[in-house]
Amino acid sequence: MKGKQTKLVIAIDGFSSCGKSTMAKDIAKRMSYIYVDTGAMYRAVTLYALRMNWIKEDHVEKQLLIDALNDIHISFQYNEENQTNVTFLNGENIETEIRQLGVSNNVSVIAAIAEVRHHLVKLQQEFGNDGGVVMDGRDIGTVVFPHADLKVFMTADPLIRAKRRFDELNAKGDHVTLDEILANVEKRDYIDQNRDESPLTKADDAVVLDNSHITPSEQTALVMEWIQEKIEEKDL
Ligand code: C5P
Repeated sequence: MKGKQTKLVIAIDGFSSCGKSTMAKDIAKRMSYIYVDTGAMYRAVTLYALRMNWIKEDHVEKQLLIDALNDIHISFQYNEENQTNVTFLNGENIETEIRQLGVSNNVSVIAAIAEVRHHLVKLQQEFGNDGGVVMDGRDIGTVVFPHADLKVFMTADPLIRAKRRFDELNAKGDHVTLDEILANVEKRDYIDQNRDESPLTKADDAVVLDNSHITPSEQTALVMEWIQEKIEEKDL
């Protein structure tokens, strides 16, 4: 860094359960940037819809949800003690609840609703207006910040991703099977890639990071190198 303030926009996209948020948080901390977990925003809207009983077996009460979007206030608070971001829905801490399978099983359907996406994308763009942000999701490099300074596209073998999620949930005392998790991961991949509205796809100028066989610290080191290259390239 050349002694000047460097404020990049860093977009991290990729498949479910690739460790995007763990890495994005780590990078944000090292760079003293803001971290925004856009998946948590889609999860918060899903939880709201579930609580209102708008997600039915065979359909979603879309219009009711669309009309309620302005009543769904999502915010984040940084928890110093365990160094994590906590998600709030209308002032209530929902961090634990949005990670459970009930929300995971429904979130991709809610995230496919165009109006929900437009609403959340606008909020995400406001978070990143001044740069100095690391944002992770599915459409950050393609839709939210098409001019992001660095775009990383993360991927890993589905079974390895499911196994990681399985270990995480079991450690928290959620008794789920590996098959259930794998089915959820594969279903979310399919819906995310095949929806009409901003499907999950790699931006042309994104760098691919397959972390199937590398450790979290190896991948962080790699991304920090890419950031450094961008800083030098842009002469920030
Ligand atoms: O990242 P996470 O797995 O928490 O995201 C939950 C879901 O939210 C994804 O499976 C995807 O359907 C949706 N999502 C999205 N666009 C984003 C972030 C998440 O469609 N930018």
